[in-house]
Amino acid sequence: MSAYQEYFDESHQLVRDSVRRFVEREILPHIAEWEEAEEFPRELYLKAGAAGILGIGYPEQFGGSHEGDVFAKVAASEELMRCGSGGLVAGLGSLDIGLPPVIKWGRTELRERVVPQVLAGEKIMALAVTEPSGGSDVASLKTRAVREGDFYRVSGSKTFITSGVRADYYTVAVRTGGEGFGGVSLLLVEKGTPGFTVGRKLKKMGWWASDTAELFFDDCLVPVENLIGMENMGFACIMANFQSERLALAIMANMTAQLALEESLKWGCEREAFGKPIGKFQVLKHRLAEMATQLEVSREFTYRQAAKMAVGKSVIKEISMAKNFATDIADRLTYDAVQILGGMGYMRESLVERLYRDNRILSIGGGTREIMNEIIAKQMNL
Ligand SMILES: Cc1cc2nc3c(=O)[nH]c(=O)nc-3n(C[C@H](O)[C@H](O)[C@H](O)COP(=O)(O)OP(=O)(O)OC[C@H]3O[C@@H](n4cnc5c(N)ncnc54)[C@H](O)[C@@H]3O)c2cc1C
Repeated sequence: MSAYQEYFDESHQLVRDSVRRFVEREILPHIAEWEEAEEFPRELYLKAGAAGILGIGYPEQFGGSHEGDVFAKVAASEELMRCGSGGLVAGLGSLDIGLPPVIKWGRTELRERVVPQVLAGEKIMALAVTEPSGGSDVASLKTRAVREGDFYRVSGSKTFITSGVRADYYTVAVRTGGEGFGGVSLLLVEKGTPGFTVGRKLKKMGWWASDTAELFFDDCLVPVENLIGMENMGFACIMANFQSERLALAIMANMTAQLALEESLKWGCEREAFGKPIGKFQVLKHRLAEMATQLEVSREFTYRQAAKMAVGKSVIKEISMAKNFATDIADRLTYDAVQILGGMGYMRESLVERLYRDNRILSIGGGTREIMNEIIAKQMNL
């Protein structure tokens, strides 16, 4: 990554090295087995917490490090993706979507209790916004929370929630007010709260190692102290959260494309046909050159937006562009990689088979491609 010294300094390199070692030691030897089992051990959270990986980007007072350092987080995310399983990265990293609202807007008691446990890997955190009736139109969510004395009585359901089965804490979007975005709030719901149940673990096309679940709230009483931010101000909190989630998804897509390219280059040298390595055929050389070009452009554009975010600039339009561009490129590169590996590319034992499946979610989760285009168009006053 030395070509990107403009973005990464020595401390980022240290983060990169330590996460890379963690992935090589703790994840890579087991990942194929965990993918097939559609689960990784809960103990991995504790190990990642102890290695300081879960805390990267978070305040020291809660056990974190590199607070607000966007490129430390980027370096860590890129190295985690080297495990080749988007599902594991999404599952282990579900705190990154659930926790920021608690840190930014949660009450002191809530933050001091919840955040250190999550950063240590002792507790698992999830974000629950999407509902069976829809995920794109967040402002129309239906899960209802009615204030009754010191509690909110919550009724409704959520679906497709990453780490939904085994999370301990859920940042849940609910309707406390009237219709539209002005009636949405965030509540921290804890596992074990009466009236809160977890439904089935959903079977998926990709991201096998992550657990994805339905959640049900049936007259579930949540203490008012668990309100995150002000009542009816939840929509803005959710939207603010989306910026870093979209950056993270663009980074995941770029790394998926990187791995697909690396596998293709390796196979191009090793595999022979008609008496020479297949990578020597001009059609393949050009394909590989184009793949490298597309990835380079995508990564540079994503890093540029990360650099703006690092100095506090708003990149609502550009981060939506980065997510769409990166996920699109990664879709293409993973498709090409399967093609280059031929029959082996279709086999479960090859990494590109998983990359191809895993990448499909990245233009759906965290805001679909169409919703990103809506945001871009709006910013263009269209
Ligand atoms: C593996 C996985 C993990 C997930 N993890 C989480 C999680 O942890 N927490 C969470 O809250 N959610 C999670 N989600 C949900 C995800 O965010 C939603 O699936 C996504 O936002 C889309 O919502 P939807 O599936 O309801 O599709 P819909 O909103 O029903 O959209 C269906 C289609 O209509 C299109 N569409 C909708 N509105 C428009 C429009 N205005 N213009 C043009 N096209 C439009 C969409 O782009 C899409 O193509 C996850 C989903 C998956 C698959």
